[in-house]
Amino acid sequence: MTQNRLSIADPIRTNDIMRKYKLRAKKSLGQNFLTNEKVLDDIVDASGLKPDEIAIEIGPGIGALTEKLAQVSEKVFAFEIDDSLIPVLADTLQYYDNIEVINQDILKVDLDEFVKDNDLQGKTIKVVANLPYYITTPIMLNLINSDYPFQSLVLMMQKEVAERITANPGHREYGSLSIAVQTQMKARIDRIVGSKSFIPRPKVDSAVAVLERLPKEQVDIEDPVFFNKLIRSSFMQKRKSLMNNLLNWQGRTDENREKIKKDFEKCGIAENARGEQVSIAQFKQLAIEMNKN
Ligand code: SAM
Repeated sequence: MTQNRLSIADPIRTNDIMRKYKLRAKKSLGQNFLTNEKVLDDIVDASGLKPDEIAIEIGPGIGALTEKLAQVSEKVFAFEIDDSLIPVLADTLQYYDNIEVINQDILKVDLDEFVKDNDLQGKTIKVVANLPYYITTPIMLNLINSDYPFQSLVLMMQKEVAERITANPGHREYGSLSIAVQTQMKARIDRIVGSKSFIPRPKVDSAVAVLERLPKEQVDIEDPVFFNKLIRSSFMQKRKSLMNNLLNWQGRTDENREKIKKDFEKCGIAENARGEQVSIAQFKQLAIEMNKN
């Protein structure tokens, strides 16, 4: 493959492509195109993609990240919702024969079916994306909870969301989203990305989050439905104590208060603790105690 042309991410090439196709970034679809090669290289490095591994990209845009992924992996499947970008991608990615662009809304894709239909079981599949920020959370939770256990997710998102998913107990950002992610994935922030790295510039700072699946034996929630209800209730009103939130859920009776107090004692949770002070291990144990009768 000759590499005399500029990378798609080069601001000169990005602007040329946008002019050629009379593209105006659609705010409603979260279109902020990355034009910082160093950031793209860092994203690809963080994914650790190898030549026999598969990449799934969400929202290829005009293909800046897609081409970099194609250079290091066996194949890239890229889901793009915007019809008008499909001919653009056919042009910008024409030099690569290991990219398949799929014109679909990622939230409507059954990823487990997709993996089966494309005979990808047994392959290492990594998701790498500069996400459309208006749907960061549903996309991320779908990927984490999908039947197919994607090994790792490298996702550019709003810095504030990245801080929430990586937060530890005792921090202001720690809450139900941190727990939903960290019960299944090891999560860290790889780097912060300023708004200057995009065309057009988003209003907020961004961060690249790296989520790696925990070993099976560490994902040990007995009754996920009950656990999720517990977590949702615990953070319903963040300023209230955990006890108050749980009484709102279970019913505000003396009997419930006494029962929860005893459950707290067994888990080493102070009676006046707030949800943000309680570790995931304590929540797991609390779910078991509360679920007993
Ligand atoms: N990957 C490109 C880059 O880094 O320059 C573009 C990233 S841009 C932040 C997000 C992309 O996601 C846009 O191309 C947008 O059209 C696409 N998108 C938005 N909603 C989507 C959805 N529901 N399913 C698939 N793609 C979507």
